[in-house]
Amino acid sequence: MNRKYRKTVIAANWKMNTLPSQVKPYVDNLKQILPRPKWCEVILCVPYTHITATVKACRESRFSVAAQNVSEFKKGAYTGEVSAAMLRDLGVRYCIIGHSERRQYHGEDDMLINKKVLAAMEAGINPIICVGETLEQREKDLTMEQVALQVKTALAGVPAEKMRRVVIAYEPLWAIGTGVNATPEQANEVCNTIRAIIRGLYGARIARAVPIQYGGSVNEKNAESLFAQPDVDGGLVGGASLDPEKFAVIINAANQE
Ligand code: PEP
Repeated sequence: MNRKYRKTVIAANWKMNTLPSQVKPYVDNLKQILPRPKWCEVILCVPYTHITATVKACRESRFSVAAQNVSEFKKGAYTGEVSAAMLRDLGVRYCIIGHSERRQYHGEDDMLINKKVLAAMEAGINPIICVGETLEQREKDLTMEQVALQVKTALAGVPAEKMRRVVIAYEPLWAIGTGVNATPEQANEVCNTIRAIIRGLYGARIARAVPIQYGGSVNEKNAESLFAQPDVDGGLVGGASLDPEKFAVIINAANQE
């Protein structure tokens, strides 16, 4: 992390876990352990069904609420979809877009992800854009090519003045939910490349200001060494975020002056 130029962002991705009734006890517990994390932004990315309860529980805390997906459409006959304006109206500030599980199980591609990024930003939702390579791509030395394509396509049409609202999450697919995290050096190398891609698109000042998280089996033991890397501005945390005590340790690894 490098707090001189950008914020550190720790986000919990609950995926399709927990029940809405479990939100309040979780947030109360987290608030008790960590009343007001000062040095990093903490975001809870929850299922749609949990949003109202999470916004309510997070009042008078520094925790922000995020969705895990959004429609690319503004409104209309799209049964089962949820628009960015609907999320904003509920008090949602961020949205994960392009998570590998949506790419894998719901057929989302880079073009669709770009539409979702633009739709979210237009409604005032800040995107957390996920990119990352498969194990096969890493082994074939295609990691940088893959993330460059994903980052450039996702950001197409995002104007420079809106880039301060963007968060990128580097999530190698081989590390998500596997218990095998990228080493701090591997994570930093790709986050640094992503920053160079943004520099090429928007210039050095904007590239310096964009938080780039690492995600993939972050836990209470490896968080500190990952976040100590200069280009790793926090984490997107799946499994370990379901336990408020473990998540608090991870937040604290970033919540250093
Ligand atoms: C994720 O959900 O984005 C993730 C990185 O999961 P995990 O921390 O469980 O690997």
